[in-house]
Amino acid sequence: MSSTEKTLAVRERLSEVRYEIRGELNRRAHALEAAGRELIKLNIGNPGAFGFRAPEHLQQAIIRDIDSTDPYTHQLGLPAAREALASAYRKRGAPHVDTDRVFVGNGVSELIDMTLRALLNPGDEVLVPSPDYPLWSAATILNDGRPVYYRCAPENGFMPDPVEVEALVSARTRAIVLINPNNPTGAVYPRELLERLVAVARRHNLLLLVDEIYDQVLYDGAAFEPTAPIAGDHPCITFSGLSKVHRACGWRVGWAILTGSHERTADYRNALDLLSGLRLCANVGGQYAIEAAVNGPDTISALCAPGGRLYETRRAVVEACAASEHLHLIEPKGALYAFPSVVGAAARGFDDHQFALELLETEDVLIVPGSSFNVPYRDHFRVTLLPEAGLMREVFARIDRALSRRAEM
Ligand code: PLP
Repeated sequence: MSSTEKTLAVRERLSEVRYEIRGELNRRAHALEAAGRELIKLNIGNPGAFGFRAPEHLQQAIIRDIDSTDPYTHQLGLPAAREALASAYRKRGAPHVDTDRVFVGNGVSELIDMTLRALLNPGDEVLVPSPDYPLWSAATILNDGRPVYYRCAPENGFMPDPVEVEALVSARTRAIVLINPNNPTGAVYPRELLERLVAVARRHNLLLLVDEIYDQVLYDGAAFEPTAPIAGDHPCITFSGLSKVHRACGWRVGWAILTGSHERTADYRNALDLLSGLRLCANVGGQYAIEAAVNGPDTISALCAPGGRLYETRRAVVEACAASEHLHLIEPKGALYAFPSVVGAAARGFDDHQFALELLETEDVLIVPGSSFNVPYRDHFRVTLLPEAGLMREVFARIDRALSRRAEM
């Protein structure tokens, strides 16, 4: 390269952004696959990649309306879909929901970015859980904000401590992110905890950003409590979509429901309306499945109940961790992941990233290092619960073998 041919510079703040779920390890996995290796990839919560299909009645809804899917829709989403969502969230007890406050997006991912973009000025702070789903940190940074992490510590069952959360509030804090049921930990927050977190948001005038994309993926009778009804008049956005509960992540359909006093949220609603218009509309085909998803039969509970595919895989993981001298697991009560830690002799000098690479190279298994989820410790890793139980037993046999080799070192 001559001195006049400079490399194309990228946005500086990108150097702060990490998304290792699809990062360096994933690229290495692709290279190994291209060279003919057969891998078990547990890094992405992608139901379709593990043989799940979207429910038949959702597929039929799109096929039925395929002739209507060519034009752009209303920028906020199809009116009938938003009506169905507004009515479903009103039934759950969310106050002040109307169709003008329902935003349909290309997955929850787009809406996370949009809701932060409409909120933040440079230097504003967002309280983000640690561990987090790393898009929350990335979107905060890329919208000129600063994530400030509150601990959901393993020693506290991965539950946040509202006193610690409140201590982190500054004059710049604008919002608090809750992920419930949680990715990566599987924690499901009890009502009393949510009430205390909402009280913090009220005291400091913080927008509640509540990621409930796993709201119906629950095990062992875990009781999910939506936050919006607890927040009442207080500004709150609830996120969910078709990707997980309805196993249709490739359709790219999510929604954000703005609740709380109309007066207090009018400007913010209008800002979201503007940003929705700028991206024209969400994928139209997928939007035709929303009404069917919201009003149709429950297809997820049976998968999470004894005998169900997700339940049995989760059981296999819980049993494998209990039987291993190298692993400790706080049982996930919801969502699609387990987040075990390495203990005992294998934990000496353990580095989660190095281990993930070693596991990939020697055992053909791809996991996500725990530190990818913005935690200060390096002894955890995440696997998705989507494979069948038998395959998961094989995975944990390989993980145990790799950890035994380390323990003997
Ligand atoms: N939020 C959480 C907690 C997630 O785990 C995911 C995906 O894994 C998303 C949001 C994004 O989902 P999507 O964009 O497919 O709706």
